[in-house]
Amino acid sequence: MKRTLAQETIKKVGQEVLLKGWVESRRDHGKIIFFDLRDRTGIIQAVTDQKINIGGEDVVEVSGKIASRPKGMINQKIPTGTVELQVSKIKILAKANPLPLPIDNDGYNIDEEVRLKYRYLDLRRKRLSKNIRLRSKFVDLCRQYLFSHDFVEIETPLLTKSTPEGSRDFVVPSRLQPGKFYALPQSPQQYKQLLMVAGFERYFQIARCLRDEDLRADRGFEHTQIDMEMSFVSREDVMAIAEGMFTRVFENLDAKILKKPFPIFTYRKALDKFGSDKFDLRADLEKKEKIMAFAWVVDFPFFKKDKDGKWTYTHNPFSDPVPADKEKLLKGEIASIKTTQYDLVCNGYEVGGGSIRSTDPKILSKVFEVIGHKPEAIKAKFGHMLEAFQYGVPPHGGIAPGIDRLLMVYLQEQALKEVVAFPTASSGLTSVMEAPSEISPEQLKELHLKLTI
Ligand code: ASP
Repeated sequence: MKRTLAQETIKKVGQEVLLKGWVESRRDHGKIIFFDLRDRTGIIQAVTDQKINIGGEDVVEVSGKIASRPKGMINQKIPTGTVELQVSKIKILAKANPLPLPIDNDGYNIDEEVRLKYRYLDLRRKRLSKNIRLRSKFVDLCRQYLFSHDFVEIETPLLTKSTPEGSRDFVVPSRLQPGKFYALPQSPQQYKQLLMVAGFERYFQIARCLRDEDLRADRGFEHTQIDMEMSFVSREDVMAIAEGMFTRVFENLDAKILKKPFPIFTYRKALDKFGSDKFDLRADLEKKEKIMAFAWVVDFPFFKKDKDGKWTYTHNPFSDPVPADKEKLLKGEIASIKTTQYDLVCNGYEVGGGSIRSTDPKILSKVFEVIGHKPEAIKAKFGHMLEAFQYGVPPHGGIAPGIDRLLMVYLQEQALKEVVAFPTASSGLTSVMEAPSEISPEQLKELHLKLTI
């Protein structure tokens, strides 16, 4: 017999069906046993007077008849609350040991360590299962929007070269080239710009970015961004595409967008008005509802002094200064130069940023010089970009909204790990598999590595 899903049972009253799934909350009422059968679509109550040896989370195959529940027994809280499965046969496909953590609550109060060690069970929790499915739906809607606007989805390498995105790199030793290392991408920034040189004009990627930073509730080692780049655009064009996408996607997901079009603040104005460039435009009462208060922040300073008093960039060294400030850069008037960077904020978080890029090798080299690179180092690190820009580079710009943060905000969660299937713990340990871990002496030798600890 073909499998019926829990959700389909309401249309099958009187029919013999076969269901498969997990046993949830068994309730013994004298001679009668009730349990809920859970599959990917939800639960249905099953009832039997057989003496069955099933326990919570066993995987079973159950056949029987779908019957309407008597009036007083209807459960309005679940979509299948008007029916039940009268079991005729039950087969256990896999027994389950008692679970090491409860999964019938929201899970917020359970130790992170336990939740991540048994993440595959934690994910059975209704809240998390819903979050992860929602994430998939969200990505699907973004893809639909981007494809309908002529974007091409292109993958870029994971084993690559260090790119200055402002963080520490994760590095991978090379076996074939002793003493040399790949860096995992902090973002596909350089590749997406090279794709513009290659003529794709509209690129996107659901891109994994890796940054070796200290972990916080709203920052992980890995994050996923909708990485985009477009040719022949102004900053307003890029902002309009991102704004159009999120308006369409979140309205489709039944969220309310507080202000349309998204208000635009200069960095100065944001600091004056809110004391921060990651502000929340919602009134207190609105914080309880599904409201997304998007806003743009523009006109950031290009450079700032780091803790040692040296110039560094505030956002992205590949950005173009605003047109009026290009001369200042070439003349070395660093302090007052503004970047074409635009940040997207929502409900108090920075959820993405991007810029129009500098395609003039003179400007780009000057930026690297200001942030302390010697000419030889600029050539070694970024020579490929400067060279690529000599073969017909279109003006271009892009943006990279972060999926994890956006979903955390939309789902009103307080931590990224609530919207990521297998997150890294705050200690840096991965879910379930406990990396980082040691490697064998043979592997070390093969990689030409010696440990000094
Ligand atoms: N590469 C930038 C980042 O990852 C985003 C961009 O400018 O497109 O933050």
